Amino acid sequence: MGAIIRAQCSCGYDSGALPEGVGFARRGNLIARCIQCRDIIAVRADTSPMRCHQCQGPVVILDRVPIGEGAVPIECPRCSEMTLTCAAEGMWD
Ligand SMILES: [Zn+2]
Ligand SMILES: [Zn+2]
Repeated sequence: MGAIIRAQCSCGYDSGALPEGVGFARRGNLIARCIQCRDIIAVRADTSPMRCHQCQGPVVILDRVPIGEGAVPIECPRCSEMTLTCAAEGMWD
């Protein structure tokens, strides 16, 4: 079980639905940023090193995903402004 996360920015960037795992730390997904794709993606937490499924490049795991009221926006991979926020879109299993 986990939450569907969607990252969006005022520049028009939209990550689409990202499954973020919760509970089973070694089996779930983490939200990460791919520098090469300039995209927010979900990566499997049980692979090492973690790589982008799109370009196989290295990714930066986001240790803070801004969700909900009062969340502080993080850096957008497209426009590099601190205007990226995330929303929880429901659950998956
Ligand atoms: Zn990539
Ligand atoms: Zn942006």
